[in-house]
Amino acid sequence: MKRTIVHLLNSEAVTDGDGVKIQRSVARGALQTFDPFLLLDEIASDDAADYIGGFPMHPHRGFETVTYMLEGRMRHRDHMGNEGLLVTGGVQWMTAGRGVMHSEIPEQSEGRLHGFQLWVNLPAAEKMAPPAYREYGPDEIPQVRFGRASGARVIAGEFLQDGVSTRGPVADVTTRPDYFDISLAGGDVLTLPVDADKRVVLYAYEGAVSVRGAGDARRLARQQFAMLGEGDTVEVAADEDSRFLLLAGRPLGEPVANWGPFVMNTPEEIEQAIRDYRDGTLVNEGGAT
Ligand code: FE
Repeated sequence: MKRTIVHLLNSEAVTDGDGVKIQRSVARGALQTFDPFLLLDEIASDDAADYIGGFPMHPHRGFETVTYMLEGRMRHRDHMGNEGLLVTGGVQWMTAGRGVMHSEIPEQSEGRLHGFQLWVNLPAAEKMAPPAYREYGPDEIPQVRFGRASGARVIAGEFLQDGVSTRGPVADVTTRPDYFDISLAGGDVLTLPVDADKRVVLYAYEGAVSVRGAGDARRLARQQFAMLGEGDTVEVAADEDSRFLLLAGRPLGEPVANWGPFVMNTPEEIEQAIRDYRDGTLVNEGGAT
């Protein structure tokens, strides 16, 4: 069965970090609406004033941040001593687990910066696991061609098209995420099998597409975010050359308590995270137990 758009929202213009302008997609009210996804940010600007401040040292606990650069360069540093330069086409998959302190600063003072950060929730059993950090260069992200002039970058999961399976480099994540960056040429249609037990969301960032569900077709315009209903197939048509992200993951079905950079299951765990951050034990082994 084809999945239909059941929830459509406009991303909001917000400012975060040190004055960085962002288009943010987040569920209203109960955050778990898009379970296992918590938030998707797009940064896109030709004006350095919109991004130059970056995100100075800040904490995270209880989830994963996935940063994907379409254009530009971002320098990452964390308390574990990891340092990486995220370049055009590169991906960083960071598991905050029990605690990470890091900074994310653009390494350019002019030109275009365009990228995404996705927050993926962790199951309760992994929220206090040791943090981990993985980085993938552009060469490690497979590119697939299909249709007349369409294509996809496969960051995570399995992209099945024309009988060919392409797997992204990200593996061993409990929510079994699929993360595809899809370019759909005007007139092309993508029909993609997606596991029935996963939640599927789309975010359009160029042009506009229509999602052909079972019995209807709904339009997804630029900077809109859509949650799809149940099914095992996603069918997307482009009237004009368009680009969008397709994200899928297994919902956790667990309570969500969040405060800023901490996403846990209960308010008590959030209070503990805030205490640990203030005490400086958020990132130290032998800290909060
Ligand atoms: Fe961060």
